[in-house]
Amino acid sequence: MTVTLQFIGGADSVTGSKYLVRSGTQSLLVDCGLFQGFKQLRLRNWDPLPVKPDSIDAVILTHAHLDHAGGTAELARRSGVPIEGPQQDDQFWIEQMPAQARMFGFPPSERFTPDRWLHQDDRVTVGELELQVRHCPGHTPGHVVFFEPESRFAFVGDVLFAGSIGRTDFPRGNHAQLIASIRHNLFPLGDDVGFLPGHGPTSTFGAERRSNPFVADSVVGRA
Ligand SMILES: [Zn+2]
Repeated sequence: MTVTLQFIGGADSVTGSKYLVRSGTQSLLVDCGLFQGFKQLRLRNWDPLPVKPDSIDAVILTHAHLDHAGGTAELARRSGVPIEGPQQDDQFWIEQMPAQARMFGFPPSERFTPDRWLHQDDRVTVGELELQVRHCPGHTPGHVVFFEPESRFAFVGDVLFAGSIGRTDFPRGNHAQLIASIRHNLFPLGDDVGFLPGHGPTSTFGAERRSNPFVADSVVGRA
């Protein structure tokens, strides 16, 4: 099985999260976020995707913040691509999408209805690639993580970063729940698992268990 991965979001920025995964002739887009911040980034929201929209077989969403899901409605309308995820507890974020866009300085964004809500232990497939779903609330209540068991990597959205964790000061964010999601639902997958966060560099679960100031074994043990 040959799987290729392409990051088509805003490199070195904190917005516009999009990963394109190809397996054989099939393509899967992980998140479809909008850019915000500096004008040259916001202008990128009007650029065409570097892939043909109708070549994408599915969009899977980690969570429903604008910088991860704000471009989903338009993509789905133009291409008819099915939307899978996040978990249904993020529905209130999707309903607030137009208001979120106004509040946080994004271009207009529309609400959408996922073709499939995802749950713990669900599977999403593209070609021969099968991703396992982990429900990891805390940053948002319906946040999910996608884990690929053969290549041992995970798309973690805004749950975990290299040296940090997701913000929990948004509505229905929950710090203790986020720590529990990481410790009990991600770290058991294995120290060797590499992860791709929504923002910033990649890392491994093992490295974060050793040195992450929020969720390392030593830190949580002390608490
Ligand atoms: Zn987020």
